[in-house]
Amino acid sequence: MKTPAEIQRFCRLLRLRTVSRQPGSGTDPGPFIRMAGLLESLFPMVHSRCSRDRVAEASLLYGLRGTDLDLDPVMLTAHLDVVPAEEDGGWPHPPFSGTVSEGRVWGRGAIDYKIGVSAMLEALEGLLARDFSPVRSLFLAFGHDEETGGDRGAAGIVALLDGRGVRLRSVLDEGGYIYSFPWLRRDVAVVGLAEKGYLTLRLTARGRQGHASVPGTATAAGNLCRALARLEDSQMEPRLCEPVRKMMEGTAHLIRDADGNVSANALMEIMSRYPSGNALVRTTAAITMISGSSKENIIPAAPHALVNLRAVPGDDSGSIIRHVRDIAGEMGVEVECEDTNHVHEPSAVSSAATPEYRAIEDAMEKVWPGIPVVPGIFPAATDSRHYCSIADDVYRFQPVHLGTDGLSALHSSGESVSVEDYMGSIRFYSEYIERICGA
Ligand SMILES: [Zn+2]
Repeated sequence: MKTPAEIQRFCRLLRLRTVSRQPGSGTDPGPFIRMAGLLESLFPMVHSRCSRDRVAEASLLYGLRGTDLDLDPVMLTAHLDVVPAEEDGGWPHPPFSGTVSEGRVWGRGAIDYKIGVSAMLEALEGLLARDFSPVRSLFLAFGHDEETGGDRGAAGIVALLDGRGVRLRSVLDEGGYIYSFPWLRRDVAVVGLAEKGYLTLRLTARGRQGHASVPGTATAAGNLCRALARLEDSQMEPRLCEPVRKMMEGTAHLIRDADGNVSANALMEIMSRYPSGNALVRTTAAITMISGSSKENIIPAAPHALVNLRAVPGDDSGSIIRHVRDIAGEMGVEVECEDTNHVHEPSAVSSAATPEYRAIEDAMEKVWPGIPVVPGIFPAATDSRHYCSIADDVYRFQPVHLGTDGLSALHSSGESVSVEDYMGSIRFYSEYIERICGA
């Protein structure tokens, strides 16, 4: 079977190595410059009808003017950059080959989030070819550094729009998917009305450096480990935020092995058994880095560990630090913030009673009829937090089936999307844009 032209264009985006590396380790600007040129050649109608700003060299902002300038514009956003991928890291097809095989498109960015860039531009190109003229102005915003925080891309786009006095009615970003939750009988489409907060704490235990041949009974490293174990055993209290409460209401009848009359508490208990469910109902703490001494026979004087925490709406960095200090303090372990520049409180919660939320439901019903659409929260972080400052409502959703891998599918060494999901995404964005911009 011949590969559709839309898929061939998508593969060309996947072949550009627009990789974001940790700040200071040298992101190569070449692929980003080539990306701007490639988009220009692939989507000529968009480039002839829309304004285009380059922000911080590599981020792109497209604007299509509506006929009623009294209406606040709407935005769809995606990002051009991807996380690194090891060529020999177990990929079934090389990560930057843009291979189509077994009904899927393979490559870094297939889900996160070149699919958004590509499918949004396809949708707009198709609409313009059919003489689409929006009533409400539309922006497509593509950041180039989302994977390292969006401090130049999305933040730069916000500064540019803010400087022009633009206030956005709404933004649609990544951060909600068609999930196959293990506690539900069927797939559900979750629209992120909020995203969790982000904080990394450094736990340090103090003791005496010494020779490993004459250890004491309670070394600093032992105390650190006891504090970490207790932290894992003492999770923060579950907290039911409004979007997750609505999600539970919308899915109670789909719970495996239970009727639809499950109480909220029982449902929280069921969800808590699974990492993907637990992350929705409480602030989580993940021990990510541990270090001791530099040699096998030296007892460390100040071993430390980093703990990455994700705050559910209702908790904040202050309450989290108190919780961790209460636990670690009993072992004499110190707790401090690892990087105060990278503390993010949970986002504001957007409304599910808006024309945009309705447009997501309606577009889903057109493309994937029968899949329930419910509100929820996104446990990770996206560029959308930058846009919260200039937008009334921010929605996080892309119409892609994550399958049983859940969010792990995003940065995995098998990142791929089905051809069907990709073609469905184009239709979804087309339906969504028509509905929110008016034809
Ligand atoms: Zn992303």
